[in-house]
Amino acid sequence: MLDPHKFRQDFPILDQRLGPSRDRKLVYLDNAATTQKPLSVIEAITHYYRESNSNVHRGIHTLGERATALYEDARNKVRSFIMARHSHEIIFTRGTTESINLVASSLTRLFQPGDEIVLTEMEHHSNMVPWFLAAERQNLVIRIWHVEDDGQLDIGKLNDLLGPKTRLLALTWMSNVLGTINPIKKITQIAHDKGVNVLVDGAQGVPHLPTDVQDLDVDFLAFSGHKMCGPMGIGVLYGKEDLLDRMPPYQGGGEMIRTVRLDGFEPNVLPYKFEAGTPNVEGAVGLGVAVDYLRSIGLENIHAHDELLVQKTLEGLKALPSVRVLGPKSGRGGLAAFSAGSLHAHDVAAYLDRFGVAVRAGHHCAHPLAKRFGVVSTVRASYYFYNTLEEVDQFLETLGRALDDL
Ligand code: PMP
Repeated sequence: MLDPHKFRQDFPILDQRLGPSRDRKLVYLDNAATTQKPLSVIEAITHYYRESNSNVHRGIHTLGERATALYEDARNKVRSFIMARHSHEIIFTRGTTESINLVASSLTRLFQPGDEIVLTEMEHHSNMVPWFLAAERQNLVIRIWHVEDDGQLDIGKLNDLLGPKTRLLALTWMSNVLGTINPIKKITQIAHDKGVNVLVDGAQGVPHLPTDVQDLDVDFLAFSGHKMCGPMGIGVLYGKEDLLDRMPPYQGGGEMIRTVRLDGFEPNVLPYKFEAGTPNVEGAVGLGVAVDYLRSIGLENIHAHDELLVQKTLEGLKALPSVRVLGPKSGRGGLAAFSAGSLHAHDVAAYLDRFGVAVRAGHHCAHPLAKRFGVVSTVRASYYFYNTLEEVDQFLETLGRALDDL
């Protein structure tokens, strides 16, 4: 079992007391929104700017070569982290949102009017709205895979949803509200049997579960650096080479071209075809160090620790009257979202904050899902490997007091 105390010294931000008299120990339980960064990541970014900053792939000088080597080394680290076959299948983006927008803008240009895209009801807005935009632009049809009362998808319903016109299934690996972990490998097999490509939103899955894109056989995987100890503003789109090769460029500009004439251009090879303009080099460098850090802990260990914390949380929440937890009872990731009777989620979160406990309150960018479960907003506690069982206790105790006091 992983010992979270061992890692906390790497995260200076966690070791602080809040409030005017600095008497509230920070209990950071908002990791599904963003995780904290270890010193190695913070220092790698500083070091990059002190020693190597330069634009990449262009300058024929030492710093340019250093920056390029660091950037491409980061790409290779990410490739290895998700077990992709080729490093040119790793495209650096701003994050999950941009990765999905890239596919929604580019891949759909290969579709015909009337072609269908299947989404699930548990998607984050960033895995819904880009498809709605594409559907509007190109007369595509969106079909929805609804969520069962227990917060899971009924795999038996998938066959009926995938028809002769279905081109793509886009779904999350782990729900940021329900905690549900979808069986991606099985789902992908079913979709592929029907000739349907699969895009997985890995924003919550990749930071918490071992990832092997070749084993999962997904066609696209989108994720964000900032939810896995990396910096903000850097993310990844993994795509299978043959698909990425067939897709038209997403944005135009420097780097994504091979040649430009006055009447047109030739796109560059992968991955540069999809990386127009100066990239976020410091972000990539930081993400490379973040994946080294996560690998040194082990993703299996991180998942087991998530399960430990969330099971304790679910038991504690069960004992609190009026609390209703969304999502499955087991087989879920390290987060729990719940409503508390008639109390407004923001009031509960503000009460917890007064005692140093940082949780998120709201619809968590999943309006249709909140509607499905008849809640306007929920409070969400979400964990990472540096959270301790004592912090879960502190959260539950403070929540108990909030329910009495509010
Ligand atoms: N999908 C899921 C499941 C998420 O939890 C999030 C972040 N809350 C996103 C997508 C969007 O990620 P980002 O804002 O980093 O692009």
